[in-house]
Amino acid sequence: MVAQACTVVTVKFEDAAVADYFDDQVDAGRVPEQFSRVWIHTHPGSCPLPSGTDEETFDRCFGATDWAVMFILARCGATYGRLRLTAGPGAEVSLQHGIDYSMPFASADHDSWEAEYQRTVSVLDPFANRFNPFLGDDVRHLRSESPERYEPPKNLEPWEMSEWVAS
Ligand SMILES: [Zn+2]
Repeated sequence: MVAQACTVVTVKFEDAAVADYFDDQVDAGRVPEQFSRVWIHTHPGSCPLPSGTDEETFDRCFGATDWAVMFILARCGATYGRLRLTAGPGAEVSLQHGIDYSMPFASADHDSWEAEYQRTVSVLDPFANRFNPFLGDDVRHLRSESPERYEPPKNLEPWEMSEWVAS
């Protein structure tokens, strides 16, 4: 995995980590078609359909490649998959897909996957006030001094979160 900072609804890769990943793959003798054409991510809810941001990211990051796949896994196993071909006349094709956890395979090392996840993924919790990277030190300090005063309102919707964090 590429080192990244995530919230429940966002992800940001570290630029240096992306560059290192490409260097490592090329050093291992692979070409980009083997390691940078399939984009897989998860959705926190039950809808696997790509968001506007997903479509923009797919265009921006994969639009120049001759082919690319966007695959999304949502809660309860809901999935979405699409192959884009830009060579020749081009095409967009929905993929028949499935996830099969039943068969072991050589690289299925759950312990090393967990260690890699812990090493590379930083989870940012906007509600964990003292560690909120979007807040200045003064606000962080105030919130850690009297956290009850800065409790988020009950039933805050995700789209209201950034507004509350900024206030
Ligand atoms: Zn998405």
